[in-house]
Amino acid sequence: MKILVTGGAGYIGSHVVYRLIEQGHTAVVFDNLVAGHQQAVHPSATFIQGDLLDTNAIRDLFEDHAPFSGIMHFASHIQVGESMREPFKYLRDNVQAMTNLLEVATEQGVGRFILSSTANLYDHPTRVPIPEDEPLIPGSVYGETKFMGERLLMWMEKIYGLRHACLRYFNASGAHPDGIIGEDHRPETHLIPLILQVALGQRPHIDVFGTDYDTPDGTCIRDYVHVMDLADAHILALEALADGRSRTYNLGSGEGYSVLEVIETARRVTGHPIPVQTGPRRAGDLARLVADSSKIKAELGWKPKYGDLQSIVETAWRWHQSHPQGYGE
Ligand code: UDP
Repeated sequence: MKILVTGGAGYIGSHVVYRLIEQGHTAVVFDNLVAGHQQAVHPSATFIQGDLLDTNAIRDLFEDHAPFSGIMHFASHIQVGESMREPFKYLRDNVQAMTNLLEVATEQGVGRFILSSTANLYDHPTRVPIPEDEPLIPGSVYGETKFMGERLLMWMEKIYGLRHACLRYFNASGAHPDGIIGEDHRPETHLIPLILQVALGQRPHIDVFGTDYDTPDGTCIRDYVHVMDLADAHILALEALADGRSRTYNLGSGEGYSVLEVIETARRVTGHPIPVQTGPRRAGDLARLVADSSKIKAELGWKPKYGDLQSIVETAWRWHQSHPQGYGE
C-alpha cells in the first residue's frame, strides 16, 4: 500500500511510518515541522514539508504522489491545557486543516481514511474500562476538534463514500524498540518522558499532580499503550476498511496504572531514585481512564505486543538514553 501520512514527523505518526515501511508498504509524509522532527521520518519515506492550511500545497502533493491506498491523519495540536487557552489555534489548525485535507481527498477519490482520535472524548465515563459506545463528551477544545473530525468523516462517508476508522488513543507511550525514534514534545507535558528526564538528571524531581483521588494510592490511573502497538492497530484498521465498513476503536492496553506505579516502574528500569514532589491536582484530570479495547481485538485480531508497563518504560528509556536531547535543536 502507498499511504499518505500527515504529521508523519510527529511522535505517533513517525512510529506508524516505521511500521509501514518495515512491513513493506510505501509512505509519503506531509508535515509542517511545527511540532514534528525531520530526523524522525524514516529515511525510505518520501518527506514533503507543507501545511494543511494551504489547500494548494495539498493539491500539489496529490499531483506529485497520488494515488494513495489511504490517508492516515495525525497532524494536529495535542495539548488539552493549551487548547483551553488558545481555542482558535486548535479550531483552525486541527479542524480547518482536516477540512482542507478532506476536500482534496474526496476530489481525488481517496477511499480510506484513518483519524488519530482521543480518549479525551470520554469526559464523563459511566463505565471504566471505557467501551466505544460511551457518551461522547469532549473534555476540552482539543477533544472537541477530534470530535468534529469524527463527525466530518461521518458526512464524508454519506456524501462521498469515504471509508474511515477513528482510533481513540488512551496514553500513547514507549518508543521504537531499536531506540532510533521516540517521544520529543516541546514543551514536554507527558508523565513518562518527564519521569525519564529526572532519571537523566535533567530535572530535579517529578511533580505528582494530586494524591487525593479516589484510587488505591490516591494518584490518577491511566492506560498506557505502546506506540508500536498503536502503529499495528493503524495498519490493521486500514486493511480492514477494504470490507467497506467504517469503524471506531478504543486503543489501550486495558490495564490501568497509577502515577506512583509508573514512577516505581521507572525506578526499577533506570536504577535512579526519581525524587517526587507532590502537588495539587491538575485542572481537568479524571481519576481513572482505562480503555476497553475488546472490540478491535475481536474484530481485527489486534494483539498488543508491549502490553505491560515495564516494556513501555524500557523502550522509552532506551530512546531517552541514546537521545538525551531528543532530536536536538
Ligand atoms: N502527571 C503528573 N505529573 C506530571 C505529568 C503528568 O502527575 O508532571 C499525571 C497527570 O495528572 C495524569 C497522568 O500523569 O494523571 C498522565 O498524564 P499525561 O499528561 O502523561 O497524559 P494525560 O492522561 O493527561 O493524557
